[in-house]
Amino acid sequence: MKHINKCTQCLTYTLKDICQKCGAKTIQPKPPKYSPEDKYGQYRREEKKQEFKDKGLI
Ligand SMILES: [Zn+2]
Repeated sequence: MKHINKCTQCLTYTLKDICQKCGAKTIQPKPPKYSPEDKYGQYRREEKKQEFKDKGLI
């Protein structure tokens, strides 16, 4: 599987481990699949729902 790397110095995208433009090391950028805020928001909502259930409100 092909993966694209990103230069840590000039931020050029390349398939190589070393940037061909400036010779710096490249890394694989990892785009977040979900927002941590959303995850915690979901957790908070679930917790709240459980709280209502415990009190017999729903
Ligand atoms: Zn570079």
